[in-house]
Amino acid sequence: MIKHILLICACIATLFSCKKEVKDKNEKLNVVTTTSMITDLVKNIGGDLIEVNGLMGSGVDPHLYKASEGDVSKLINADVVFYNGLHLEGKLVEVFKKMAHQDTKTIAIGESIDKNTLIGSDYFASNYDPHIWFDVANWKIITTFVIDQLKTIDPKNAEAFASNGKIYLDQLDKLETTLKNTINTLPIEKRILVTAHDAFSYFGKAYDFEVVGLQGLSTATEAGVQDVQKLANFIIDNKVKAIFVESSVPKRTIEALQAAVTSKNHQVTIGGTLFSDALGNPNTKEGTYIGMFEYNVTTIINALK
Ligand code: ZN
Repeated sequence: MIKHILLICACIATLFSCKKEVKDKNEKLNVVTTTSMITDLVKNIGGDLIEVNGLMGSGVDPHLYKASEGDVSKLINADVVFYNGLHLEGKLVEVFKKMAHQDTKTIAIGESIDKNTLIGSDYFASNYDPHIWFDVANWKIITTFVIDQLKTIDPKNAEAFASNGKIYLDQLDKLETTLKNTINTLPIEKRILVTAHDAFSYFGKAYDFEVVGLQGLSTATEAGVQDVQKLANFIIDNKVKAIFVESSVPKRTIEALQAAVTSKNHQVTIGGTLFSDALGNPNTKEGTYIGMFEYNVTTIINALK
């Protein structure tokens, strides 16, 4: 095992010792992003003016994601890397540390959120819950932050970034209003969201839901039999109508929970699949942050009504 790790480190070290390709001044800014939410955001601001390479596609779990050799060479050739940070991309931390010695800029979007508004967590080395995108108010702060970063790094396109960013921020304002109107149709006592892992704490805080994740904050921990039984009792006691699968987490954990409720002579339905740590397929509505959020909220409200 140790030998294996050393070998990977040696490979990464070799790749990072390679020189970046020499760039023409007129070439587009080469941006690498980690999660699909960040990819979508940066594309909205940069449009055709920049090159955006997202590492993680739909259905990919960022907690468990490891950089492939192809990823490392994309990272080396990037001018700038935007990642979530707060230890969301747990297995990429080492790679980013190595990159600090390169002339590639690495920017954690999580840094833009005031620490006092972050939800604490003992689980992550950051001491904070990294699922910050599930409050649109946070996403607006992050959007403004990314606009400012791109303006500084690529000043010749600053005006375009500002105007694209303004359009996107207006869309996020509209999204917030739509979401709140939809959520307000669900009585407060029915706002209990049970999912595979704790990705929705910011959502719960922003939109008045009690949220419970079976696997805790990261998918790296498996739920035990006791956790399943405890949560099954909670579902029965609180008359929860539906529980939810997540697109980036295997559905067996939620199916085990449903079976535990059934074995106690109660019924709970699977209310649908939510997009938690990754967007849907590209070129679908759920392949965008805004579409994903609308889809999740509609699915939740329809199932819990
Ligand atoms: Zn997560």
